[in-house]
Amino acid sequence: MKINTLQDQLHRPLRDLRISVTDRCNFRCQYCMPAEVFGPDYAFLPSDKILSFEEIERLVKIFVSLGVKKVRITGGEPLLRRDLPKLIERIHRIGGVEDIALTTNGTLLKKYANDLAKAGLSRVAVSLDSLDEDRFFEMNGHRGKVKTVLEGIEKAAEAGLQVKINMVVKKGKNEQDIVSMAEFFKDKQHILRFVEYMDVGNTNGWRLDDVVSKKEIVEQVHQFSPLNHVDPNYKGEVATRYQYQDDQGEIGVISSVTDSFCSTCTRARISAEGKLYTCLFATDGTDLRELLRTGEDDASIIECISDVWENRNDRYSDERNEQTMEKRKKSKIEMSHIGG
Ligand code: SAM
Ligand code: SF4
Ligand code: SF4
Repeated sequence: MKINTLQDQLHRPLRDLRISVTDRCNFRCQYCMPAEVFGPDYAFLPSDKILSFEEIERLVKIFVSLGVKKVRITGGEPLLRRDLPKLIERIHRIGGVEDIALTTNGTLLKKYANDLAKAGLSRVAVSLDSLDEDRFFEMNGHRGKVKTVLEGIEKAAEAGLQVKINMVVKKGKNEQDIVSMAEFFKDKQHILRFVEYMDVGNTNGWRLDDVVSKKEIVEQVHQFSPLNHVDPNYKGEVATRYQYQDDQGEIGVISSVTDSFCSTCTRARISAEGKLYTCLFATDGTDLRELLRTGEDDASIIECISDVWENRNDRYSDERNEQTMEKRKKSKIEMSHIGG
């Protein structure tokens, strides 16, 4: 297959594709889909507006021809999408896809881990914000149990999937869990990544004061067990890595707020309804579903995507300040539409 090497305005290639397969979720995490907003009357996308597996497969092939090597499936909660392992299998068959990962809240992982591994999934990132049942329940909108997520994590590891854990840290909510999470997952030998609370979407009431910084997080973990900063595994890795000095594993910190990494951002995102976004903090997307459903050939879809990528100059987190935040107020895409 002929691969075009696209570059955006800041010379960043297109390498990663994140696909949201549903805008629905069985959790209501305060920082993502607060229950007050995503209530019983919330209008989720009807199924005919969501990309089918055939459409996703076609888009992945097109994106691979433009340089994409890694695909991540996300949501909403991706494991709510019926037959997800079948989609993984289709993507796995596409030559040029070197790595398929899934981000999940882990509630259905116990059920699907084996099928996902068999289908060709390589890695899973499981979100878990606390080991304390009460605090976790509070953070996920009174929906899920720590125990279920931990069972999912174990099952995924047994199935041979590489497992990482993502913990969003929010001041006053779960910062007291930083060390207990580090200790628990050091013991289990799973990489835990702390995620700074971000101003994604328009519904979580984000304030800078609610962010626990990378520096604070690393200091706490270092007190528990000394760390050394280590180089990224590859250019563009989102987490800053720290290894335990006793060689018993590592942690990562995703510091979108206090130490942004836009200069190496090679990620494109497709929402469940088939819009292409070139930044997590974007306000507008490009409708690829329309092109797919009106009979456009691959060449025109390639032209459209190339045009979008070559004109891309997003660097929201690098530029984040009161003016940029005010400009995008109320108009950012929600995290549950495009995934993390
Ligand atoms: N439902 C799946 C999950 O929770 O893993 C996948 C979708 S979720 C939107 C993807 C990731 O985004 C999760 O790890 C979640 O914790 C993270 N996330 C959501 N809102 C966030 C926010 N405001 N700040 C930082 N991370 C956030
Ligand atoms: Fe659902 Fe994931 Fe958002 Fe939590 S972070 S509400 S699990 S989509
Ligand atoms: Fe990439 Fe946008 Fe995040 Fe910067 S703010 S790293 S451009 S997604």
